[in-house]
Amino acid sequence: MVITLAVSSAGRQRPGAAAPGLNPTAARGRMTAMSTVHRSACPYDCPDCCGLLVEVEGGRAVAVRGDPDHPWSQGTLCPKMNRYEATVHAPSRLTTPLLRDGPKGSGRFRPTSWDEAVALIASRWKALIAEHGAECILPYSYAGTMGLVQRNAGHAFFHALGASRLDRTICSPAKGAAWKAVMGDTAGMDPEEATESDLLVLWGLDAVATNIHFVARAKAARARGARIVLVETYRTPTARLADEVLLAKPGSDGALALGLMHVLDRDGLVDRAFVEAHVQGYEELRRRVLPEWTPERTAAATGVAAERVEALARALGAARAPFLRVGNGLSRHGNGSMNLRAIACIPALIGAWARRGGGVMFDSSSSKAFDTSVVTREDLQPRPTRLVNMNQLGHALTELDGPRVMSLYVYHSNPAAVTPDQNRVLAGLLREDLFTVVHERFLTDTARHADVVLPATSSLESDDLFRSYGQYVVQRTRPVVAPVGEAKPNWDVFQLLARAMGLSDPFFQLSASDLVDRLLEPPSPWREGIDRAALDEGRPVSLRLPPDAKLRFRTPSGKIEILNPRLAHPLPIALPSHADASPLPLRLMTAPSLYGLNSSFLQERADLQAKAGPMALRMSPADAGARGLAHGDRVLAWNERGEVVFTLEVTDDVPPGVVVAPGVRRLEDALGTRTVNALTSQRLTDEGAGSTFYDTAVDVRAA
Ligand code: SF4
Repeated sequence: MVITLAVSSAGRQRPGAAAPGLNPTAARGRMTAMSTVHRSACPYDCPDCCGLLVEVEGGRAVAVRGDPDHPWSQGTLCPKMNRYEATVHAPSRLTTPLLRDGPKGSGRFRPTSWDEAVALIASRWKALIAEHGAECILPYSYAGTMGLVQRNAGHAFFHALGASRLDRTICSPAKGAAWKAVMGDTAGMDPEEATESDLLVLWGLDAVATNIHFVARAKAARARGARIVLVETYRTPTARLADEVLLAKPGSDGALALGLMHVLDRDGLVDRAFVEAHVQGYEELRRRVLPEWTPERTAAATGVAAERVEALARALGAARAPFLRVGNGLSRHGNGSMNLRAIACIPALIGAWARRGGGVMFDSSSSKAFDTSVVTREDLQPRPTRLVNMNQLGHALTELDGPRVMSLYVYHSNPAAVTPDQNRVLAGLLREDLFTVVHERFLTDTARHADVVLPATSSLESDDLFRSYGQYVVQRTRPVVAPVGEAKPNWDVFQLLARAMGLSDPFFQLSASDLVDRLLEPPSPWREGIDRAALDEGRPVSLRLPPDAKLRFRTPSGKIEILNPRLAHPLPIALPSHADASPLPLRLMTAPSLYGLNSSFLQERADLQAKAGPMALRMSPADAGARGLAHGDRVLAWNERGEVVFTLEVTDDVPPGVVVAPGVRRLEDALGTRTVNALTSQRLTDEGAGSTFYDTAVDVRAA
């Protein structure tokens, strides 16, 4: 029987009641007497982590809307989530375990029971461990769900098994390394401060596609008189929000930052009193690095005209409280971390930190509020095991030895589509001797290559705790509908596998809700004084930023460290990107889509697929003309790793030398045989061992 679950004030599930404190009729007009409304949170990899109101009727989610009581998202959702019920109850949801019933990659399966599937996995793993050792098993997951329990549900199991560990660095660890280099453990800014800025610089942030509720803050700042400047590699949808757009060559952000600081220094716009009190290394920077970064040299390196470099520097120097909001994409270059280090130094020179609304925000620091080791349990490892970088899965599956990877377990991730160097990844997944298990909601490109597919729940069917990397609201969620078919949450599956593999630690007896309690148990200054009862009821609750968060710089010197003597490059400098060494003339931007998030949504939502259109490559009129190509042509983008067919879109939004491919598409929707990550590389960033998706050189010809 399917039952509807809501959250009781005691924090337990009870059937068929609305979330406390919620006026159900406020949720939407079409509610019936039989429906109830429940709070939840958006589980996807997005800095907004929006609050949801889910209307449930007859055991099904029938409508999903934004929660007006959520302090950050305030009742609005992006177009992808406005019909989340269509994802949750999509006809293409996997509802039973499946066993491969055809050649690898054929997508042919036969249904089986959970008992048979788990017994098969356990017997194959026991045999592989006996022959090759447990490190021949590799888990693969990232952020298909962002909940602290379900996202991290496999760590303890694989640690206890002694499997290889995955270095989960596909997003922006280079950005984290840059922050650490300059700011140490200083907390990330509260994005709400942006509304009090008089100059907002969105640096590599396509807020309209990836941080939509920051757009509302930017508009609020503008209503109070702020100017908005966008620094980007092409005109994104966010350009419409900006008063001014500076297009810089991909990977040249560090050079631009150094050029801006040259002008600030040259023109006496540095806040000497702030620098004296709070900054380490300004004198070294101005003597050793800045002199060569004249506006002319900066223009040559970045493509931004010298007078525009001068104008932005003067605006930064004159602003009362400049706020720099920095996106993730610009860190995904071979020189990404160094580029972000240079950007992080700008507000230090102008003393922006000293004023409300001023500073630089890379990410929020809400992770500091929770000790996730109570879920990930590294201590269960019998001994430290090898670490495999997730960006180099293709290498791991086809070349890595000692031992060879013999089994891959993928959960809430789709590496066949989202991991760089797709040809190598697919070659690995097609290995006959690789035993692949995929736990997923849909038959993704990766699941089609599995030996065993296990059906996964959506976020509306499981317990979790959500925090955001772009703001400071946290939310506890509980199931609001029963699992669809025989789907199971990540944690429940690892409990089954632990039992089958003979892992007897009592930790594996805990429920997902127990794990949430454990995350909330240890005291944290970030959670001091928050309304725990409200949190347990499922309401969104704001964390407390330490009152001295802004001017207490948590570095070894206690100052902002422009000079960091502990690093190989103690001062920020301009480094080349990987693609700078390529003879190929175009730089490929694998851009976010308004209608998908990585490979999520397009799998199951025909409405979003239709809006996304065919796989497109956007190119400047100059580059199209030089190649004899016209709008609508079928073209082939190529490099040493692969070839991908696109429909050409010729547009002035893209400058010469750049091409843009929005979204990550399914192999079955490819115009040729591959999707965009056949062109991206397994090379890593300068710091953080991160992905370098945007550091890709290609050329384009008619297909
Ligand atoms: S994807 Fe982002 S913007 Fe859209 S609902 Fe989820 S958290 Fe909000």
